[in-house]
Amino acid sequence: MTTTVSAYAAPAAKAPLERTTIPRRPVGEHDVLIEIKYAGICHSDIHQARDGWGEGIFPMVPGHEIAGIVTETGPGVTKFAVGDRVGVGCMVDSCRECDNCKAGLEQYCSGGNVGTYNALDKTGEPTYGGYSTHIVVDEAFTLRIPDGLSLDVAAPLLCAGITLYSPLAHWKAGPGKKVAIVGLGGLGHMGVKIAHALGAEVTVLSQSLRKKDDGLRLGADHYYATSDEATFEQLAGTFDLVVSTVSAPLPLDTYLGLLRTDGALVNVGAPEEPVSLNLFSVIAGRKTLAGSGIGGIRETQEMLDFCAEHGLGAEIEVIGADRINEAYERVLSSDVRYRFVIDAATI
Ligand SMILES: [Zn+2]
Ligand SMILES: [Zn+2]
Repeated sequence: MTTTVSAYAAPAAKAPLERTTIPRRPVGEHDVLIEIKYAGICHSDIHQARDGWGEGIFPMVPGHEIAGIVTETGPGVTKFAVGDRVGVGCMVDSCRECDNCKAGLEQYCSGGNVGTYNALDKTGEPTYGGYSTHIVVDEAFTLRIPDGLSLDVAAPLLCAGITLYSPLAHWKAGPGKKVAIVGLGGLGHMGVKIAHALGAEVTVLSQSLRKKDDGLRLGADHYYATSDEATFEQLAGTFDLVVSTVSAPLPLDTYLGLLRTDGALVNVGAPEEPVSLNLFSVIAGRKTLAGSGIGGIRETQEMLDFCAEHGLGAEIEVIGADRINEAYERVLSSDVRYRFVIDAATI
C-alpha cells in the first residue's frame, strides 16, 4: 500500500522549501522501509532545489545523506532486519547489468543511476529524498551504519564522506604520501579526516587562514592560504595527490604545478563553466588531471566501516526542519562548520 508521509519540499524552482506530504511506494519484495532520523544538507541540494542545473522535477524533496532505522522489510530481504541502523546516499537504483554496475561502480552506471531525489525511478515515478520522515529503498542500495557511529554524524558520510573516500582510496592516499585537500567545507573537512586516518601527510589549501585551527584539529599537518601567492612557490612539486572540493574554477596550471612527478589533481567539485589549461602542465612530470563522483555501494559500505573503526563522523550542526531555508543561505555564505543535519523528528 502506498503511504503518505511528511516531507519538506521546494514546490517550484527557487521557491522556499515548505512542509508538505508525499507518497512512498509499498514495501516491495526486496525493499526496506526506513524511518529517517537525520538528513544532511548537501550543497547540491541547494543547486537542485533552485534548479541551478536545469530540468529539475518539482515539487522536489532534496536529501541524499540519510540515516535511520529499518521499520519494515519485504519478504525477499536478506541483508537487513527491523531495527537495523541504515543509511542511503545519492542513488537508490541502477541498471545492475552494465560493466560498471557489475564492477560495483553503480555511480558510473552506463544507463545512469537513479538519484535519491530529482530523478525518475524504473516505473517512471519521481524519487523524493531524505527531507522526510520515511523512505522505501531496495536493500541493494541500503547501507549498514556500524554501531560505533552515531546516526547524526554518520548521515553526511553518505555523500560528503564517500565523495572524498573514493578518490583518496583509488589514488592510494596512505603512509608516505603527501595529500592536499583544496577547500575546507562540508566535503573538504571529511577529506582531511579520512586522508589523515589513512596515514597520509595532509595539507589544507584554503582561501584564507580563517579555519586553520579547525583544519589542524581535524587532522591536517599543514595549512596554507591560496590567497597568498607565496604558497604556490613554496609548495611547487610537493604533492602526490591534490583533491579539489571547490566549485569555483581553479587556475589548473597553477594547481598542477603543486604535483610531483606522476601526481594527480582530482576534482570532486565542479564549476558550471568549462575550464582550460596548458597541456604542458600535465606533460611535464607525467601528471594526471582527473575527476571522481561519489562511490559505488560496496565502496560506500567500506567507507562507513572505515569511519566507524577510526571514529570518524562529520562535524555537524543539527537543525529543526523549519530552519532549512535559513540553513541554505548559511551554506551559500560558507557559514557552517561543517554540515547542517536535519533532525527528521521535526519534519
Ligand atoms: Zn551531496
Ligand atoms: Zn549499470
